[in-house]
Amino acid sequence: MRIALVAHDRKKDDMVALATEFAPLLRQHTLMATGTTGGRLQSEVGLTVERLLSGPLGGDLQIGARLSMGEVDAVVFLRDPMTAQPHEPDINALVRACDVHNVPCATNVATARVLLGSMAF
Ligand code: PGA
Repeated sequence: MRIALVAHDRKKDDMVALATEFAPLLRQHTLMATGTTGGRLQSEVGLTVERLLSGPLGGDLQIGARLSMGEVDAVVFLRDPMTAQPHEPDINALVRACDVHNVPCATNVATARVLLGSMAF
């Protein structure tokens, strides 16, 4: 499956911990991520990840465009609900695209565990 991974700055440590926990599973899939998130997944978890643009520079939109073309099967999007983001419209566009195309989108760690755990079976 093709999995997209995105984490806002204050959620990046959570993303690294989650990806470390599920690394054996994630290695079996094709991964893409926004720029900074992807960099940390590469350097700290050792995953092979296609790095797109950073979120504020259009990375979320890139993922949304791919997803709309049927090229993304699941999204883990650890959003920070406590911090205003300059690219809020892009964030909403990505989540909306998931809903439009019925693609699973986990926006917190608990849901991401359920999603990734289900993929392990
Ligand atoms: P980043 O983008 O991984 O490049 O930080 C994530 C985001 O802010 O949407």
